[in-house]
Amino acid sequence: MGALRGAVMPIFKPDVETMERKDLKELQIERLQIVVNQAYANVDFYRRKFDEAGLSPDDLKGLDDLGKIPFTTRKDLMDNYPYGMFAVPLRDVVRLQFPLGMHGNPIVIGYTREDLKIWRELVARIMVGIGVTEHDIIQVAFNYGLFMGAIRFSQSAELIGAAVVPSSIASADVQIRIMQDFRSTVLTSTPSFALHIMETIREKGLDPKNLSLKTGLFGAEPWPETVRQALEENLGIQAYDIYGVMELIEPGVSGECPARRGLHIFEDHFLPEIIDPQTGRVLGEGQEGELVLTTLTTSAYPLLRYRTSDVTALHTEPCACGRTLTRMDRVLRRTDQMISVRGINVFPEKITEVLSGIPDAGPGYALKARTKYGMNDQLSVQVETAAKILEGREDQRTSFQEGLQLAFRRALGLRVEVELIKGA
Ligand SMILES: [Zn+2]
Repeated sequence: MGALRGAVMPIFKPDVETMERKDLKELQIERLQIVVNQAYANVDFYRRKFDEAGLSPDDLKGLDDLGKIPFTTRKDLMDNYPYGMFAVPLRDVVRLQFPLGMHGNPIVIGYTREDLKIWRELVARIMVGIGVTEHDIIQVAFNYGLFMGAIRFSQSAELIGAAVVPSSIASADVQIRIMQDFRSTVLTSTPSFALHIMETIREKGLDPKNLSLKTGLFGAEPWPETVRQALEENLGIQAYDIYGVMELIEPGVSGECPARRGLHIFEDHFLPEIIDPQTGRVLGEGQEGELVLTTLTTSAYPLLRYRTSDVTALHTEPCACGRTLTRMDRVLRRTDQMISVRGINVFPEKITEVLSGIPDAGPGYALKARTKYGMNDQLSVQVETAAKILEGREDQRTSFQEGLQLAFRRALGLRVEVELIKGA
């Protein structure tokens, strides 16, 4: 247990989290057969895919047969908007969730009451695993309006019995005041917002030792180890990574344990694979490639071999924490062009979409991101602009630029800088 820092943390569901891997595989194949049968019976998209591949749900005898199932992509989800991917009637769906920033058709994810219950437990498993108890006060500084995970952190913390302070995106001053007055012990937010709070604490000349913070749980954007170090040293916390997939559940697919040698994937609910993004070939343990996930227990929105576009590698050797669940490396890269700016996902396709609706702008553009601590902090878009605007009156140019800024802000949920440039 040498790799563990401090006390050994409890495990929320020891029966599954420390299960022998051969027993886990049996549980997975059992659940896979059920989910595949449900998807085939209730989702036209999957029935068509299986029929085209000459595949029957009965052909899946073991986990080795998983590779016979065709991949599901984000485009498939978009093409089947709104309810084409649902495996249950709408009356059984209790929540519809709508990730922002998607281009083309949006995506709508449905959850049954049972789906939400499982999801709540998954995030609670991560929290318990890093030492959160009913004595903790959790400050949830995620955007409750934009990020669907914010409410998840709240409900999972409440399940454990911890006290939640939904401070959302109140200013850093307010966040610090809450930390001082309520003696928050856990901060959960995007790592970039945590850095901003950290810098504000420093500017105010406050000593973080006078705060009660001990744990940070950060996610919704990639963050390098240097950011972890900065946050730990300057806030006096242990910082942990949590991972999710916005087209599925975010957060709650995996999370770090105190050993912090990768994020344990909840394999009783998700079956992970790593593929070569170019060829689709399944790669072996420890090899880096695109993460593909199959849901094992989702009722409303089952996804079979969903390509996440996130790059990672899987490891199954025993972990110091005692969990037997596969660990994935921290995700720092994608296979697509999506970039994350302060926790907000930006698809270049969305920029193209915005420009196509504005006369005299585009279609050419270039994206430039300013980074801070190795993370994207500010995005600027250089937009090719018609000569009559560029060479016209200054007030018209300014209002054109402001119009673009507003259009991007509405479409992306993010303030971007706009620079007008000459077309090629
Ligand atoms: Zn572990």
